[in-house]
Amino acid sequence: MLRDKAGLVTGAASGIGRACALRLATEDAAVVVSDLESARDRCQQTAREIAQAGGPAEFVACDVADEQEQQDLVDHVVRTYGRLDFAHNNAGIGPHALLADTSAEDFDRTVRVNLRGTFLVMKHQFRQMLRDGGGSIVNTSSNACLRGAPQIGAYAATKHGVIGLTSTAAVEYGEQGIRVNAVCPGVIRTPLTTRLSEERQAEICAPQAIKRVGEPTDVAAAVAWLCSAGSSFVTGAAMPVDAGSVAG
Ligand code: NAD
Repeated sequence: MLRDKAGLVTGAASGIGRACALRLATEDAAVVVSDLESARDRCQQTAREIAQAGGPAEFVACDVADEQEQQDLVDHVVRTYGRLDFAHNNAGIGPHALLADTSAEDFDRTVRVNLRGTFLVMKHQFRQMLRDGGGSIVNTSSNACLRGAPQIGAYAATKHGVIGLTSTAAVEYGEQGIRVNAVCPGVIRTPLTTRLSEERQAEICAPQAIKRVGEPTDVAAAVAWLCSAGSSFVTGAAMPVDAGSVAG
């Protein structure tokens, strides 16, 4: 689906980002994988797995909330592959607490990574894609943006914000050939969720139409399609990838 295309994935050291980077590479894309410097070893492992599967991949360390590092990341993709066809803005964090127990520091940290980070990465991607004549951006939101989300209020607020950025950007840049969509995963088996007890996981799965925890590859399939020309009439969408959890 993505032959001769080049792009980037943030938060690619683990979980959903790693699975998406591998899937995009399987679809023949050149992928720059990015994550924090502190996740260098794990993210380089993602790049090695892509290389072992025969694809080109590079690692660039960056913090999504640092504007200069975002500019440098986009520049790296363009210097290496000539253009930026797609971006999967996926890095995110999610502290657990009831709202009354959430510290202002945790709230600010979550906004910094999930919301400011998504804004900054998109800003520099738009500037490049406008020069290139188009592209496809996929942000990772959450199905916590589609309803109330007890115990993850700060996180849910940022993921609602990601949808605001996604739909606005879709309208602002549609005419210039840039599509912007979001995936809204339900519970996916990653380091972010493995701390949930078996009991809590069963509780979460109970209202779903498909009663299992999702795998990162479930999200990767949706992201690869949204990055590709196969979804050329889709923009501004907040696509649940959540086993029908918000459908019920
Ligand atoms: P994860 O913890 O495995 O991966 C998140 C990655 O983001 C990590 O590699 C981490 O190092 C990176 N990261 C954190 N802060 C960063 C920063 N400032 N700059 C760059 N990278 C940073 O978790 P995951 O479950 O794979 O989460 C990926 C995305 O999916 C997140 O945005 C998360 O909110 C979202 N999500 C996850 C689930 C789920 O159930 N796992 C559900 C809905 C949405």
